[in-house]
Amino acid sequence: MELINRIKRNTSAQLFHEAKNYFPGGVNSPVRAFKSVSGPPLFIKEGQGCRITDEDDNTYIDFCCSWGPLILGHRHPGIEQMVIETVKKGTSFGTPNRLGNELGKLILDNNPFLEKLRFVSSGTEAVMSAIRLARGVTGKNKIIKFEGCYHGHVDSLLVKAGSGLATFGESTSAGIPKAFAQETIVLPLNNPKLLDDALQKHGDDVACIIIEPIPANNGLLIQEKSFLECLRLKCYKYDCLLIFDEVISGFRVGFTGAAGHYHIQPDILTYGKIIGGGMPVGAYGASAEIMSHVAPEGAVYQAGTLSANPVAMAAGYAAMSALLERNFYQDLEAKTKTFVQKIQSYCDSKNYAVSIHQIGSIFWIAFATERILSADQISPASMELFKVLHHELLQRGVYLGPSGYEVGFVSAAHTEADLDEAAQHICASMDVVFG
Ligand SMILES: *Cc1c(COP(=O)(O)O)cnc(C)c1O
Repeated sequence: MELINRIKRNTSAQLFHEAKNYFPGGVNSPVRAFKSVSGPPLFIKEGQGCRITDEDDNTYIDFCCSWGPLILGHRHPGIEQMVIETVKKGTSFGTPNRLGNELGKLILDNNPFLEKLRFVSSGTEAVMSAIRLARGVTGKNKIIKFEGCYHGHVDSLLVKAGSGLATFGESTSAGIPKAFAQETIVLPLNNPKLLDDALQKHGDDVACIIIEPIPANNGLLIQEKSFLECLRLKCYKYDCLLIFDEVISGFRVGFTGAAGHYHIQPDILTYGKIIGGGMPVGAYGASAEIMSHVAPEGAVYQAGTLSANPVAMAAGYAAMSALLERNFYQDLEAKTKTFVQKIQSYCDSKNYAVSIHQIGSIFWIAFATERILSADQISPASMELFKVLHHELLQRGVYLGPSGYEVGFVSAAHTEADLDEAAQHICASMDVVFG
């Protein structure tokens, strides 16, 4: 199908052309290049509430929300005000500061799954540090991860299952020594049997099992609670640590994230995205005992020049305070459910092969008829349908992340009217996709 642009994207196209002189592929993070959808990436100049405006003055209802952090929408007044007040006193001192204490206290007082935490500046940094901590605490080297989970661009986690009978992983990026990838065991999600086999063989060498408890970086692969419980028990049995990578799910499906949603206590938790209220913040946390291994208290080194700078802490504090307001998560989830059900009913009535996966305020439009639980169930061919959907939605003023493997996020700034409008556009676009 030929995709014809009915909206102007000339300025974005021109800026993208220029950007290619400065950045590899014209971008500072690969998925932004729009490689799996049509046309040049949009250069966004402004956001307000649930809407973003590009350099050609097109406005879109935004379901990417900066890939998850903006659960309160663009320009939340509380965050904006606190950031402006703070920035006027200086941006960073490289010393402890009071705002860091306040954000730390606010999070720990409201999250029973953590006793201490350490702030860093990105999700990748949080995960990398959590892995080092797990290795430092257990004195073991290997890690287990799952196909379909993304944990940032950490060397030992950019690894996929090896071919054939190989147990150990193969890296998915150039520049990663084989020896690193071989410390990583990659297993399919939702398969307790293969997990058991791997642990029986290698349990003595395994420092940790890391999982996105709500895998949301390769479709939305909502796991059975029993699988997550199985991970918990196996970690006790084999004396390794369970890491929940909650960079997306943390503060998204509830203030206590997936750990709270499933009532499962992991050993280490990692955060990012929402925790910084739109500024670059990540964190990892655990029991006081496990965190006592982190420098300067313990021997696991980890540091950061801009870690917990006051401006980032201010944004995080204002965001966390808003999330703790009564019924915040109930309202957001209810809105999301209504929105998703509207589209699903429409697709069902037309016999379109669409199955929208949803948990909390995360949704994923799968071109499939069944619930999908593991990465290998996603049909690569369905991504052609997504490409048409994405294109049609841009024409109608709705912005989804530029890949069919990406989930969508509803924010508190999306009103019921906004969601109604978006649902109508999505239904109309489905008619084109299946037309
Ligand atoms: C986004 C993400 C990361 C990486 O965070 P960055 O801030 O992009 O480095 C790690 N883990 C999960 C689950 C994520 O969604």
